[in-house]
Amino acid sequence: MTGTDVFTPKERSAVMRRVKGRGTAPELIVRRQLWALGARYRLNRADLPGKPDIVMAGRRLAIFVHGCFWHGHDCARGARVPKANRDYWVAKIAANRGRDATHGEALRKAGWRVAVVWECELKPVEALEQRLRGWLEGVSEKRERARGPRPLRHGARKSAAPPPP
Ligand code: ZN
Repeated sequence: MTGTDVFTPKERSAVMRRVKGRGTAPELIVRRQLWALGARYRLNRADLPGKPDIVMAGRRLAIFVHGCFWHGHDCARGARVPKANRDYWVAKIAANRGRDATHGEALRKAGWRVAVVWECELKPVEALEQRLRGWLEGVSEKRERARGPRPLRHGARKSAAPPPP
């Protein structure tokens, strides 16, 4: 490989920001779109496998927002591994992928729909919105067929606060 596995300073600082974990910029982008679509959700439910980033219990929908690097996405960004401590990173990312698969399986077995938004899929914004809409509508349609129409709710009591602008 010639240079594709080296972070630029800008990319490195983006990675370092992501190290801090929850509430990352990609997750905020997804939360804002969901909020705009009228969806209400909770964050990081620790009682669920893998502590999904965004949870809609009524829709049985758990959404993970994954960084391509940390979770080893099959894309250009995910294929990049730092030259220094390469073995460490390869093992670490493989472990993350293994955990993600285990958590996804456990959630599905418990009746959850598991959706993943990869960092590289945030743009174009129209495409992301369409996917989110599909997840929201797919589940709510099933719900209505099963239980009949229900009155509109103006946000669940326990939903998270609106995302910061
Ligand atoms: Zn990706």
